[in-house]
Amino acid sequence: MTELRTLKVALLGCGNVGAQVARILLDDADMLASRAGARLELVGIAVRNLDAPREVELPRGLFTTDAEALVKDADLVIELMGGIEPARTLILTAMRNGACVVTGNKALVAKDGPTLHEEADKAGVQLSYEAAVAGAIPILRPIRDSLSGDRITRVLGIVNGTTNFILDQMDSTGAQFADALAEAQRLGYAEADPTADIEGHDAASKAAILASLSFHTRFSLDDVYCEGISSVTAADIAAAKDAGFVIKLLAIAEKLGTAGRETGLGTGLGSGTETDADGTTGVSVRVHPTLLPREHPLAAVRGAFNAVFIEAENAGELMFYGQGAGGKPTASAVMGDLISAARSIVLGGPGRAETTTGQVSALPITAAVTSYYIGLDVADQPGVLARIAQLFAEHGVSIEIMRQTIHRDADSNIESAELRIVTHRASEAALAATVEAVKGLDVINSVTSVLRVEGV
Ligand code: NAP
Repeated sequence: MTELRTLKVALLGCGNVGAQVARILLDDADMLASRAGARLELVGIAVRNLDAPREVELPRGLFTTDAEALVKDADLVIELMGGIEPARTLILTAMRNGACVVTGNKALVAKDGPTLHEEADKAGVQLSYEAAVAGAIPILRPIRDSLSGDRITRVLGIVNGTTNFILDQMDSTGAQFADALAEAQRLGYAEADPTADIEGHDAASKAAILASLSFHTRFSLDDVYCEGISSVTAADIAAAKDAGFVIKLLAIAEKLGTAGRETGLGTGLGSGTETDADGTTGVSVRVHPTLLPREHPLAAVRGAFNAVFIEAENAGELMFYGQGAGGKPTASAVMGDLISAARSIVLGGPGRAETTTGQVSALPITAAVTSYYIGLDVADQPGVLARIAQLFAEHGVSIEIMRQTIHRDADSNIESAELRIVTHRASEAALAATVEAVKGLDVINSVTSVLRVEGV
């Protein structure tokens, strides 16, 4: 095998995310090398305080307070310090010195994206920031690459976990905003100063980034209309619930025609609306509390999770869901960008080539373990439910939900029952044996459906 070249990686910041990135770089060096096509050598970690405790044990010799010297001698720079300065100057210096840059800094990208992109283009290096929007969720690259041959018409995102947690608490417990915020702080979902989250500023940065990529136009924070959730009351939530809605803080970017722009006038919806060359359409970028029908896919996004719902002309509706924050999840997004940037250096291309180094075997369907939905048409007789439940138990398949609906045939006046069962996770083999055994019971008219269930 030919010797792989080594790329020098400088890490700026070793907090929640940076420490996890350093851990992965050191622990998974061989895996990363096989995927990147180069060894990724962590040459230094810039911090403010050399003696601060770290979440991960890391070699002391890697730490430095001289971030500027570090970025000048690197092929790849990962910026995870946060804030505008010195992050901005360090990123610009790194790119001018020919390094590709990966950052999770939504505030900086939203505020000064055009300058950063210009410098990256000038230097011919990659600038990537998948971690800046919705943490672990791969959303920027799908928008930028996978959907580049389509026209996105609308993006709706739950992109701030803190506010989603608070609204979810209010919805599920009837709590007032202040109590739900206090609970979020107690559980570590909200910071001691929660302003950036609850007033929508964090979501607004992400809205600007989503809109820029979705609509191929550079939007900045100034283009985003922003309203937070601090004025949402328990009564608002209760009324929405009564009417079949849930309240979510959404980051929205959508293309509007003339009618849409007129509707937006005077309501704040006009803010951030850019006009096309023909003067008839534009993009509205905004963040505000929003009622969603309870059956909308985004209504099911609970707790501190994030999700982004996209509508595109040809792809139709798409939804991306996952953990929007946290050291490890966010580090996953950073590593994806880093591998892509490393491959761009190795191949001299855009770094999107597929790798096939996993060598994992494909398992047969009988090895699958999941939950199941089973529909049964059964005779309406006493003791039927107990017999069926016992049969499931004998096969090691436990029942999570069992619901019965009685039907009467109008002509024959005979009653039958429809039984719907959802199981806990079981193996495909155990389930198949259970279904065969159920079919043999004299009280079963038919097995109407057997479907796999995910996400229960
Ligand atoms: P953090 O825990 O506050 O860590 C910041 C790190 O940067 C610390 O190690 C700090 O050094 C270092 N640092 C700050 N200013 C510095 C300076 N002037 N010179 C040298 N080092 C400096 O931050 P984080 O939560 O890891 O977030 C990092 C970035 O990722 C931010 O841009 C954030 O918005 C983004 N992000 C975070 C998450 C998340 O879940 N946390 C999710 C998505 C994106 P000391 O340790 O010595 O103080």
